[in-house]
Amino acid sequence: MWSPSARFSTLALVAIVAPATIVAVLGWVSIRQWEASSELLYREQARDMATMAAEKVEMMLRHAEDAVLDRLQGALDADTPPARAVDDLLAHAPLVRRLYLIGQRGELLYPRAWKDGDAAIFGPLVAEAAKGKFERSGKREVVAGNQVCLAMLVRRGGEPVVAAFIRDPDTLRREIFETTLGALESSIIIAVLDHAGRTVYSRAPIGDAQHVLSVRFRETLPDWRLAVYQASGAAPRQAVRRQVMLFTGAFGVLVAVIVAGIATTWRLMRRETEMTRLKSDFVANVSHDLKTPLSVIRMFGETLEMGRVTDEGKRREYYRVITRESERLSRLIDNVLDFSRIEGGRQTYEMTPTAVEPLIRGTLEAFTYPLAQQGFKVDVDVASDLPDVVMDADAVGQALANLIDNAIKYSGDERALAVDARVVEGRLVIAVIDRGLGIATTEHAKIFEKFYRVGRSDTQGRRGSGVGLALVRHIVEAHRGDVTVESAPGEGSRFTLRLPLARERDG
Ligand code: ADP
Repeated sequence: MWSPSARFSTLALVAIVAPATIVAVLGWVSIRQWEASSELLYREQARDMATMAAEKVEMMLRHAEDAVLDRLQGALDADTPPARAVDDLLAHAPLVRRLYLIGQRGELLYPRAWKDGDAAIFGPLVAEAAKGKFERSGKREVVAGNQVCLAMLVRRGGEPVVAAFIRDPDTLRREIFETTLGALESSIIIAVLDHAGRTVYSRAPIGDAQHVLSVRFRETLPDWRLAVYQASGAAPRQAVRRQVMLFTGAFGVLVAVIVAGIATTWRLMRRETEMTRLKSDFVANVSHDLKTPLSVIRMFGETLEMGRVTDEGKRREYYRVITRESERLSRLIDNVLDFSRIEGGRQTYEMTPTAVEPLIRGTLEAFTYPLAQQGFKVDVDVASDLPDVVMDADAVGQALANLIDNAIKYSGDERALAVDARVVEGRLVIAVIDRGLGIATTEHAKIFEKFYRVGRSDTQGRRGSGVGLALVRHIVEAHRGDVTVESAPGEGSRFTLRLPLARERDG
């Protein structure tokens, strides 16, 4: 059936990835809807506000102009000669920039003469208006474009008079637009555009603000528009976009965390599975390792016991084999026991000043027989001036023995072993060098892991438990030292132990 990791990944997919995808899709859809509806709402609100503001402007303007016209009508009713009264009146009505009063036959009643080229502008308009456009007194009309305003007044005696005036743009801006629009509480920018689309007034600099909408004024400012702008970055769409980015970012982080979590769990599970496999290999390897020397010992023991070996030389050889295999057995059992003590945190080291050369030679001695039997060329090069080094001699001896054992075990056609010891940069450096099979670079880190054995057919044939180098590393690290390997397939290996000369103080 399914492996635990396959089950796990299916579960992770169903339980985490699927809901996360649904949440992402729903989140995305609702944000899009929210974006659309907030945009709509925003435009509606802006339109309402613009319409109200435009009405208010027109009301103010009409009010201001009505007041002037009322006073003008009052002046025409009075006895005083109109010219002076109108002069007075205009002096207090800054909104009216220029005013002409024209009688029903087109004669200029005020002022005495047309100014600048006004006759050409006002004349035709007044004539047009007089053709019966203003039947009722007080009706006002604004002429688009040049903003000439016409109003019908009545002179004393009932004679109609046309009042034609133009507005003062500065006063219009200051007293009408500024007072009406400047006070509006809003984050948006309101501007007034004239008939040619020029900005006559704006509540704040428009700059790169975004145009939202415009509404038209009605009769007091025909063809003029009130425009609404949104400062860049403040539009609801941008706010929503920020939310979308935030949501996407947060969701991305969430997904990344989930994926990282799944990947870590997956890796742990694979490691666990690998460990389980390595452990069961270990049990098989150790059992095999124990059985082989035992059966050799038994076979030679039985042969000797039967007294069939009469040749003294042969007998000695059998005894040596038995001794060698028992040593092998002891080493193996020591390795396994030490390894289990280290794993359980129960291993202790007895640190004493130790002479290095005797330790190296003593360790090598245990291998004299296999080295000689297999025709190894052995080189020992120990610097003569080595000081005693504080260490657990048994443990370091065991580490060395493991390295030497490996050098013999993984030898190839060229059989050579060298052990080299010297002090380098204040540390004792012991190298065990062989000309054996060598190890691929990709395996260099792994071989120091517990139970790990290089999965080569040529290695598989050699006995081993996979804890030898793990033990070496434990031992040197307990001495605050390290172990490294330089090796390439077919070129042999160099394992280097580095130990501090004196035990450094803890911490
Ligand atoms: P083992 O009991 O398998 O020897 P070790 O921990 O001592 O376990 O070594 C781990 C693996 O490293 C070995 O299986 C072997 O493949 C590789 N190895 C160790 N020493 C050598 C060496 N001197 N030459 C080639 N391969 C080596």
